Amino acid sequence: MSTTLSNQPSATGDVVIVGAGLAGSLLATMLGQRGYRVRVYERRPDPRLTGAARGRSINLAISTRGLTALNSVGLTDEVLARGLPMHGRMLHPVNGEQEYQSYSADGQRAINSISRGELNALLLNSAEAQPSVEIFFQHRVEDCDIDQTQLTLGTDDGEKIVTADVIIGTDGAYSAVRRAFTLRDGFNFEQDYLPYGYKELTIPAKNSEFALNPDALHIWPRGSSMMIALPNLDRSFTCTLFWPKSGDDSFAALDTSVKITDFFDEHYPDAATLMPSLVDDYTHNPVGSLVTVRCSPWWMNRCVLLGDAAHAIVPFYGQGANASFEDCLSLVAAIDAAQGDWAMAMPAYAEDRVVNSNAVADLALHNFIEMRDSVNSRTYRAVRATENTLHRLLGEHYRTRYEMVSFSTTPYASIEPRVRAQRRAVAIATGLGLIASGLTLAGRLRSRLARRG
Ligand SMILES: Cc1cc2nc3c(=O)[nH]c(=O)nc-3n(C[C@H](O)[C@H](O)[C@H](O)COP(=O)(O)OP(=O)(O)OC[C@H]3O[C@@H](n4cnc5c(N)ncnc54)[C@H](O)[C@@H]3O)c2cc1C
Repeated sequence: MSTTLSNQPSATGDVVIVGAGLAGSLLATMLGQRGYRVRVYERRPDPRLTGAARGRSINLAISTRGLTALNSVGLTDEVLARGLPMHGRMLHPVNGEQEYQSYSADGQRAINSISRGELNALLLNSAEAQPSVEIFFQHRVEDCDIDQTQLTLGTDDGEKIVTADVIIGTDGAYSAVRRAFTLRDGFNFEQDYLPYGYKELTIPAKNSEFALNPDALHIWPRGSSMMIALPNLDRSFTCTLFWPKSGDDSFAALDTSVKITDFFDEHYPDAATLMPSLVDDYTHNPVGSLVTVRCSPWWMNRCVLLGDAAHAIVPFYGQGANASFEDCLSLVAAIDAAQGDWAMAMPAYAEDRVVNSNAVADLALHNFIEMRDSVNSRTYRAVRATENTLHRLLGEHYRTRYEMVSFSTTPYASIEPRVRAQRRAVAIATGLGLIASGLTLAGRLRSRLARRG
């Protein structure tokens, strides 16, 4: 299994990927299609055989960036066939009517709700269909020797050592490959937990139909807590409740069935009536953590990080997987450009992606506040309506932040500067307009006074 070790980068193409999650399995397909020999080591059993663990079946919103990467390996149609388009968000106030806000100015563009398990299964099937790709489940990476490009794996049959020309860590937010980077001089690493956690709840189908409009991502913005719901093909909705983990106003505070139902009746009354298994789900489903990871450099010797292992972000823009898929495209583009020379490709990939992943991490944190609080406010709605009108009038010259994040492949790092520049231009144009009408008015006044006088 092992290849000859050398400290010089090699272009022989024996690659090991750690983690067969979303990014690892897509990358295995991309490298397999280019003829690389790829071995993928995944710590869990094959999810296609075991299914998702309780409370871990969260569905994902996949948008233009993810679809662009999936398209490059011919998977878009298959993924879209397993997904449901959501053209807008539906706001649920505590009392009163639901309010629909379309995601794009023309109301035509949609993000797509797809089960994480189904997407992972599609990607695993696609990777396994490549003759040069092998996936080893129940192989947990315990250690990564960066100098020797060597992994120590825990398996049911005991410890195994494997070496390769290149190791790619796609082993998620708590990456074992990244842990080895942190022990090296010159590695910058930052990890920030939100005090918020998340819990999965369910709205089942009602009389075999969707209990809510399936063409929308549903949001219950409540300030200190927030719930969202995405539709599934079986006509249920997977809800995710975000709330602080501890304190009086938190997940921990609801420790009896009565407290759970009372809380939902008060804060989420319309949803509570649609959740027959609320108490059971709340009691038994785990509370997940929300962490942002920023680090650099993303490569050392011939080991490289990709996906959440390189940049975990909070899920409020629905971009973690989309950004990870974009990483895959960026890495293979760099390998293609360097004609298989990984020593050239890895820094080029990192230079492209680090700045963009830091930018999307900021966008995601910002969107949390927007979803939790602002979407309900009059000012927010007025600004959105104005921006949508400007986009309709000016086309590509004025694009909203949401459109650029979700419906374009504009580099994440260019989005905030462009939003600011557009707003400045509109402010200047408005100011000039006001001055021009002020001058016209003053001119009319002058001639009227002159006539009288
Ligand atoms: C609540 C929530 C909602 C989200 N919603 C969205 C969304 O709507 N849209 C979106 O784009 N993103 C979303 N995300 C983010 C998205 O889930 C991640 O960005 C994405 O899964 C990252 O893919 P990955 O392959 O890098 O990591 P993962 O999908 O986490 O895969 C890592 C894999 O590595 C394996 N592994 C870990 N350690 C080891 C080891 N030591 N040895 C071997 N294998 C190992 C794991 O078992 C796993 O299979 C959401 C995240 C959360 C938490």
